[in-house]
Amino acid sequence: MSNTYLDILRQYWGYDSFRGIQEEIITSVCEGHDTLGLMPTGGGKSICFQVPAMSMDGICIVVTPLIALMKDQVTQLRARGIKAAAVYSGMTHDEIIYTFDNCILGDYKFLYLSPERLATELFLQKLIRMRKVCMITVDEAHCVSQWGYDFRPSYLEIAKIRHVIPYHVPVLALTATATPEVVKDIQDKLEFAEYRAFSMSFERKNLIYVVRHTTNKADEILRILNGVTQGSAIVYTRSRRMTTEIARFLLDNGITADSYHAGLTSAEKDIRQVNWTKGRNRVMVATNAFGMGIDKPDVRVVIHYNIPDSMEAYFQEAGRAGRDGQASYAVLLVEKGDKMTLTRRVPETFPEIDYVRQTYENVSCFLQVGVGEAEGRTFDFHIEKFCPVFHQFPVHTDSALRLLNNAGYIEYHENQDFRSLLKILVRKETLYRLNDNGQDQDTVTQAILRMYTGVFADTVPIEEVMIAHYTGLTVERVYAILKTMRQNRIIEYIPHRSVPTITFTRPRVDTERIFLPPSVYQDRIADYKKRIAKMIEYAYSDDTCRSRLLLEYFGENVAEDCGQCDVCLHRKHMSDDERKAMDARHAIRKYLADGELHPLESLTTLDIPSDQLHAALRLMADEEEVVVDGSEVRIKS
Ligand SMILES: [Zn+2]
Repeated sequence: MSNTYLDILRQYWGYDSFRGIQEEIITSVCEGHDTLGLMPTGGGKSICFQVPAMSMDGICIVVTPLIALMKDQVTQLRARGIKAAAVYSGMTHDEIIYTFDNCILGDYKFLYLSPERLATELFLQKLIRMRKVCMITVDEAHCVSQWGYDFRPSYLEIAKIRHVIPYHVPVLALTATATPEVVKDIQDKLEFAEYRAFSMSFERKNLIYVVRHTTNKADEILRILNGVTQGSAIVYTRSRRMTTEIARFLLDNGITADSYHAGLTSAEKDIRQVNWTKGRNRVMVATNAFGMGIDKPDVRVVIHYNIPDSMEAYFQEAGRAGRDGQASYAVLLVEKGDKMTLTRRVPETFPEIDYVRQTYENVSCFLQVGVGEAEGRTFDFHIEKFCPVFHQFPVHTDSALRLLNNAGYIEYHENQDFRSLLKILVRKETLYRLNDNGQDQDTVTQAILRMYTGVFADTVPIEEVMIAHYTGLTVERVYAILKTMRQNRIIEYIPHRSVPTITFTRPRVDTERIFLPPSVYQDRIADYKKRIAKMIEYAYSDDTCRSRLLLEYFGENVAEDCGQCDVCLHRKHMSDDERKAMDARHAIRKYLADGELHPLESLTTLDIPSDQLHAALRLMADEEEVVVDGSEVRIKS
């Protein structure tokens, strides 16, 4: 391997060697090959495109849907003296033009883009004026596949970008979760010249998977947290209300906890995340809105209060435990009704087409948009205000909006980020006169003057977390100071907010013309059902090593069981006979998995002694797991 890459790594990142498959990916993409890298979170994804881009001539375009991560990486690159910029929704038109022009004229090395930006006329115009694009990196690449669990149609624009650029630019696709089927689909959709993929094992040796059946989940959480007393923890639940209730319950029982969900203001989110990261609160009870870009090393346990709707989601969320390599737990709580609840998510996620159409009409009416109007306009949209007016359930409404988004009628953002804005209203001489906060206010003022230029002339976007970082004050304190400064008319200050928005991507159409193509609706339902079934298998099976089930799902062949999950531990305590009986049942279940009728006779090919085979079959029939029909048998669906 050329020493150039290693030199770059040393010079900018201070590491002495590459890890895992980083080297292979870097070499491949630098040789000009379209390349796919499958790396679990924490595998060092960013090095894989940052190092090659630094060794090449031109700018690297990075497509990612994660705005927080984008901002974070731009800050880190700049701190290393590398020119990087980002364009995402929430920026003003002028800011966007300014950033693009910088990339054209200013010798920038990285341009981060959210996928929605790709198709815009503005970007395409600017793109052809860029001197040279050296590579395109596609982060969270599973979003390009409609078989993936998080399909985003705007990702399909990436292939078009390849056609706009008149020369060959290698594409590097990176993802942390993809089945073999999805890997192939990603390469097709991104128009790879050849199938080239490198993957890292998904095995997490220090992570102990546990499924716990219980009748009282809250008590079970308490028991677990009292058992694993070190480090911090995350409890995932699907409902916003439950995050608050569980956090309260933990607090009442002497465990420091806080809640987090998409409905909080950005300031609240910042403060809560910082408090948890710094260890002031041990437990974060959160919806899946929590986790993007979170890299806390000492999370000892991740508990799931509800069953997620895909193995991909479960693996990602559970994988936030044990980043430091120390033994950690991933616990899934299961109670009797969960199977039903999970099955019900299919019609919740894919409401009837007429319901989707009706939602479109109601939303248009709510926003006072007539047929043929509103193309390109963005509206704040509060689902909790909308639903009572039109007697719609929030869950179904949310799903309908996502479908309309995927079919290209609207853009629906649950969390559109608008950054904090600040302008100083007084002259420099009088700036320090009005002060209700003592030394801290002076510190904050000085930080602002140092970090942001032009604050006397114009409102500029600021980041409170950065000011806190710079001054050493807490984020709460920075917010409080800025608020009193606003009250005292020293500054104009609009704290950042994230609001749900709807943008009409095309003029409002007649409701009966709303059409959901199979790729958005029918095909996706079948796919979603499969994912749910797999999750049910994970939660309810008790005879296959949990780690094995997860790894096999991602297409890995596993030689040995993990020896530490609840199934493996249970096996260790079994007698030989019990173990054999369990293996027999497992083999039968696998053999009948296709749901078809099979002759009883054919089971003798299974290499199970006949007495054990019959005992297992009898038990499975008694427990209504299989149906014996004359001389044939099938699994009960
Ligand atoms: Zn195991």
